[in-house]
Amino acid sequence: MDTPQIVWLRRDLRLADQPALYAAAQMGPVVPVFVLDDAAAGDHAYGGASRWWLHHSLASFAADLAKHHSKIVLRRGHAAEQLAALSKELGGAPVHAIRHYEPWWRKVQGALAKQVDLQLYDGNYLLPPGAVTTGSGTPYKIYTPFSKAVLEQLPPRDVLPVPDTLSAPPKWPDSDDLDGWNLLPTKPDWAGGLADFWHVGEAAAHDRLEEWKDHVSDYDEARNLPSKDGSSRLSPHLHWGEISPVQVWHALKGRRGQGWATYEKELIWRDYAQNVICQFPKYGVEPYREGYDGNFWRSPERGHLIADDLEAWQRGRTGYPIVDAGMRQLWQTGWMHNRVRMITASFMIKHLLIDWTYGERWFWDCLVDADYGNNSVNWQWTSGTGVDSNMFVRIMAPLGQSEKFNAAAYIREYVPELTHLKDAVIHDPEEHGCRPADYPAKIIAHREARERALSTYRAMKGE
Ligand SMILES: Cc1cc2nc3c(=O)[nH]c(=O)nc-3n(C[C@H](O)[C@H](O)[C@H](O)COP(=O)(O)OP(=O)(O)OC[C@H]3O[C@@H](n4cnc5c(N)ncnc54)[C@H](O)[C@@H]3O)c2cc1C
Repeated sequence: MDTPQIVWLRRDLRLADQPALYAAAQMGPVVPVFVLDDAAAGDHAYGGASRWWLHHSLASFAADLAKHHSKIVLRRGHAAEQLAALSKELGGAPVHAIRHYEPWWRKVQGALAKQVDLQLYDGNYLLPPGAVTTGSGTPYKIYTPFSKAVLEQLPPRDVLPVPDTLSAPPKWPDSDDLDGWNLLPTKPDWAGGLADFWHVGEAAAHDRLEEWKDHVSDYDEARNLPSKDGSSRLSPHLHWGEISPVQVWHALKGRRGQGWATYEKELIWRDYAQNVICQFPKYGVEPYREGYDGNFWRSPERGHLIADDLEAWQRGRTGYPIVDAGMRQLWQTGWMHNRVRMITASFMIKHLLIDWTYGERWFWDCLVDADYGNNSVNWQWTSGTGVDSNMFVRIMAPLGQSEKFNAAAYIREYVPELTHLKDAVIHDPEEHGCRPADYPAKIIAHREARERALSTYRAMKGE
């Protein structure tokens, strides 16, 4: 009982329902550790918004640990090397961690297991990847049968409590100073909007869940309306593991109804995304389907001026109010409403014919919930390049979507140039002859974009 137990934390910054922390606390003094490893993830190192969230989440977690007379040790560098060195420093301490499935974490877990006694636990999903398989024992590729199989296996495991005690080691190892990691932006400090929009940390996640309990029954209808606060906004808390989906599931299970049934399926999408990246680790960087290579998209190598179009999309200056509102919401708050994520992603891919990986990268940098599984699965789903859909030819009409889902108030909130316009004209001011001078004209007409996308698709198919 005297050997210190290292708890290696990543996207699981919580005290309750934390299987690695819980197990370690039963075995001896606990040394919680977070290693900032910018190299392991390569192209998918934390983006700007993620770094902002991570700073606040670590600060909040450290404050929670302090209430239990514990602390977090911060180290920077190659995670496997840092943890192996720390284990040695602590006399061969075992390392406990929740298992993560991003390709880079799987490599680090493999390397670390060769050097220390590594105990891995399932903890961040309703069911761990591999828990459900097809009749022939292979993983599911398609969401619908996957989701049916998961529903048959639910309920998930029980929720674990916060450990009764977190005993401290005789001597705390050295730790970096969180401020010294410079995770927060300074020049310029673009994070003011994020700070207004979010409360970070485990307690904030549970506060949000409490509020959400009263709204989940309306989810089925309200979730598609960007002007309403109709979804849970738990995504960054779930991504960073400040709350587990198992806790969410058990908290809401008494609120049965259509709203809950739809919400449960969204939680299962989250599990599904991990199931996909486990099978296809390069899902965030390569199309699953053939044909959608560099020759399919408009590209600078073939003389297309995509840089201007990409920048207009990123900055919310496309002339399509719903697209611009979404992109500005993303920039200001680090989050975007799900329906608008679909509209903006579809616009970049199909109207602008820009390779989906450019959008994946932008979201990766700007989202506080940027998640390798969820982001890549949704980008490949929208582009029709993924394992679950080949619907490139289904082209979302942004103006129609904006009207159908009553986005007028949402547009007013994020596109100040249009605040004075009435509901009847705000979705398409150019068409109604009331586009203000400081708001851009459409960068491409809907019909022209649609024809271009479809003819490119037909050419790729050799039709
Ligand atoms: C192009 C695109 C990129 C996306 N990138 C991400 C991302 O990087 N990180 C991320 O967490 N979600 C991503 N999503 C999925 C979805 O948009 C967000 O999870 C959702 O908007 C978060 O808001 P919420 O918490 O209010 O969701 P709710 O509607 O309240 O859903 C509850 C939870 O279910 C999960 N969930 C919901 N929808 C999905 C989905 N389609 N796929 C996977 N999980 C889902 C999330 O964890 C979410 O918090 C993306 C969607 C699109 C179309």
